[in-house]
Amino acid sequence: MIPRRISKPIRIGDVTIGGGTPIAVQSMTKTDTRNIAATIAQIKELEECGCELVRVAVPDREAADAISAIRRGISIPLIADIHFDHRLALAALEAGAQGLRLNPGNIGDPQKVAEIARAAKERGVPIRVGVNAGSLPRTPAKQESIAEAMVEAALEQVHLLESLDFDQIKVSLKAFEIPTTIEAYQTIAEKIPYPLHLGITEAGTSKRGAIRSGVGIGILLQLGIGDTLRVSLTSHPVEEVLAAYEILKALDLRQRGPTLVSCPSCGRCEVDLIRLAKAVEERLMKIEKPIKVAIMGCVVNGPGEAAGADVGIACGQGRGVLFKKGESVRVVEEKDFLEALMAEIGTP
Ligand code: SF4
Repeated sequence: MIPRRISKPIRIGDVTIGGGTPIAVQSMTKTDTRNIAATIAQIKELEECGCELVRVAVPDREAADAISAIRRGISIPLIADIHFDHRLALAALEAGAQGLRLNPGNIGDPQKVAEIARAAKERGVPIRVGVNAGSLPRTPAKQESIAEAMVEAALEQVHLLESLDFDQIKVSLKAFEIPTTIEAYQTIAEKIPYPLHLGITEAGTSKRGAIRSGVGIGILLQLGIGDTLRVSLTSHPVEEVLAAYEILKALDLRQRGPTLVSCPSCGRCEVDLIRLAKAVEERLMKIEKPIKVAIMGCVVNGPGEAAGADVGIACGQGRGVLFKKGESVRVVEEKDFLEALMAEIGTP
């Protein structure tokens, strides 16, 4: 087990963040928040794949007001994302937001932050101080790294909130560059007791973004840093949640849904393994139980990996040996691979 930094726990709705609790998976809707039906529908999709907290953009008063109706239609805690206008934070709280994300780079006036903190405290709503490298409140000084400037911006807001006797705080320090992100999180992890929300900002489309996020978030998690995370992708938010769980599963920090082990295939393989693995992956997306499935192309590593999984197949020439819980079950023809595997998995 990775030893984790134990932070001061906070509660967003019914989800506890920090204090050694399981690392919570977040996402953010990509619908127009003012479109209540579309936003609820997207959040329901996120709930189904394991999203535990959801953030919605609040660009105007209508979006803030929509929060109360959205909350009635969903089951996970809702966080309002606020930029520029502190009145939107107040309106979002009024409408029932269970968490706030503020960007210190653009709220500005400490009096306005103080007003938000008072209203949030009254309602027991935590605030995330969400710093992004691309929107720092000031240009980094000559001798200062971007990471140092990010930490400085976050600490300024944290100290302001603390001076208002507000301690339901969470912090994020997101950058596109991984070394900057790592430096920023490592530095702040030593300076404050609060939970940290991890993310790599503007990470990219589903493939590249998931890799970049996996590297950045993965390194931080391995260092024991991080209480909650979002994989930001230029893609449907369900992909963000699936990627987040893959990162957590890879480090043995959370288990959810199936783990697919598949060999890359090579010149020894005598079946269409790539197509089979993609088809199985697609079908596994609908399964919640943690099950390990192995799809292996030949006898080199096939029987070992397939036997080590809950369900596996080790392929040969046009046929394969099906394994369940370490025991070979039967030989299957290539045309029947998919259905035979799914029948053993016990699936949709
Ligand atoms: Fe190639 Fe066999 Fe290894 Fe798959 S298991 S990569 S087919 S040698």
